[in-house]
Amino acid sequence: MMQAANPLFIPGPTNIPERLRLAMARSAWDHRGPRFAELVPPLREQLASVFGSRQASIAFFTGSGTAGWEVALSNVLKPGDRVLATRHGMFSQRWIELARRLGLEVEVVEAPWGEGIPADALGEVLRADPSHRIRAVLAVHNETATGVTSDIGAVRRALDSAGHPAFLLVDGVSSIASLPFCMDDWGVDMAVAGSQKGFMLPTGLAIVAASPRARAAAAERRGARGYLDLTAMLDALDAGSYPYTPAVALLEALAESAAMLQEEGLGAVYARHAHIAAGVRAAVDAWGFALCARRRALASNTVTTIRLPDGISGDAVVQQAHERYGVSFGIGLGQLADRVFRIGHLGEMSETLALAGIATAEMALLDLGAPIAAGSGVAAAQSQYRLSESAMPRQQAGGA
Ligand SMILES: *Cc1c(COP(=O)(O)O)cnc(C)c1O
Repeated sequence: MMQAANPLFIPGPTNIPERLRLAMARSAWDHRGPRFAELVPPLREQLASVFGSRQASIAFFTGSGTAGWEVALSNVLKPGDRVLATRHGMFSQRWIELARRLGLEVEVVEAPWGEGIPADALGEVLRADPSHRIRAVLAVHNETATGVTSDIGAVRRALDSAGHPAFLLVDGVSSIASLPFCMDDWGVDMAVAGSQKGFMLPTGLAIVAASPRARAAAAERRGARGYLDLTAMLDALDAGSYPYTPAVALLEALAESAAMLQEEGLGAVYARHAHIAAGVRAAVDAWGFALCARRRALASNTVTTIRLPDGISGDAVVQQAHERYGVSFGIGLGQLADRVFRIGHLGEMSETLALAGIATAEMALLDLGAPIAAGSGVAAAQSQYRLSESAMPRQQAGGA
């Protein structure tokens, strides 16, 4: 079985375009030399626009998205501070756990896994806090475990209508660069992304954006952090340097990734993700399975979490696809373990790749005796892709 050529259908790490692999293969250069100062300022500006901000300060830390969570929590807040969070999937749960390990007092609003962030319920908690003890609200924009995208604008409105000054810290790891993200319009104070999802790179960079207000709060805590000190990082970046050795190959490739996003156009990138996701959902409908997302409006355009009927194990589907066909899908996480499987469709993804993933998932499901008609999901996705006006052909292999 030739596996090397098969694309990934996990929601990160995502497929790495040839252009980015080549960018990573360039010779090393001196990060104290002029190349760094040449590369970084325009990259930070481009990234700010990907985050939907004209005023945010962009920083890159060598680490995964989890390091970005810690940057957001530990620079703006201090141990003992109270924060408000929704638990509605495995990623929001992990962020809550990290916050607790960092000494924060987390008030959790529970929501069913498959629901979005209940902005009204958050608003009630905020209104019941007239002395503003809650210092921050944590929100996971796209719950990668459940395949649910939440309305961050609604969380902002809940804060505003409660007249509450808490910081809004947003995990955009599986949304930024794939789904519309409007940092300024939503009044987000810290937004977190990772290199291995929408940016189509290997894991290794936590990309964070800080609003002027968050930056000022972090500056007050200057020196309270070690490796993940945001102020030291931003001051160095503003001066055209880095506080330690940067991951030069990843930064070089991140600049190429930002160029790719800019060339395609962010609007076109978002439309492509919506278009591809619609085909995946059409396949799920044709199989007769339910989404984990409780309403269509919540369904993510970067990852689809599919509930399986009793008797079909999600882990077995993923294992069969991997062992028999050499293709990776995502397993169910936390309370969804074995009940679901996930199709990641973000980053370097086209109609053709999505059809290959759907066809492979279909074979694995059939092998396990799932009650679906052979070819039904593929046919439904084909119809969706053929009929849609927003079809977006991607380059052929070897192109650009
Ligand atoms: C992938 C992911 C993360 C970060 O995970 P790392 O493995 O640390 O990069 C955080 N939040 C969400 C929503 C994610 O999808």
